[in-house]
Amino acid sequence: MRQEKLLVNSMCGRLTRWLRMLGFDTYYDREADDDQLIAMAKKEGRILITRDVELHERASKAGLRTILLRSPHHAVQLATVISILRGELEIDPNLSRCPTCNSSLRRASRMEVEGKVPERSFKAHNEYWVCTGCGKIYWRGSHWRGISKVLEEARRLAPST
Ligand SMILES: [Zn+2]
Repeated sequence: MRQEKLLVNSMCGRLTRWLRMLGFDTYYDREADDDQLIAMAKKEGRILITRDVELHERASKAGLRTILLRSPHHAVQLATVISILRGELEIDPNLSRCPTCNSSLRRASRMEVEGKVPERSFKAHNEYWVCTGCGKIYWRGSHWRGISKVLEEARRLAPST
């Protein structure tokens, strides 16, 4: 489990899913205003991630640790955050959080997911994870190639330390 808890503001919504997949506890609320985000980050000791210079400066003054992103591109954002946090651009589903709701995942047996995943996926895959919050089922399906590609891109972009 990752140590750092994160909070992403609405300008970087897409990044949230990636950080959760990489195992970071990542709070995201599109409706929350800057005051609420700063209060939340303070209360729960979260690092604030934003592209909003004003919010970044306000959060810094409030004593929060914040990361200001300059690129709108999520692979670049991912590379930047992971390099600052000294994390790995590697997804281990056993450590992942649900990209949708941020709850942790647990392993699920084939028996448990039978009839709940598409027949074709069920035939092709043995490993499943289920979200302990929303119940969504995950496996390394065809979308996994897309995920690997973005991670590869982010690794290429990551400044070597
Ligand atoms: Zn979930």
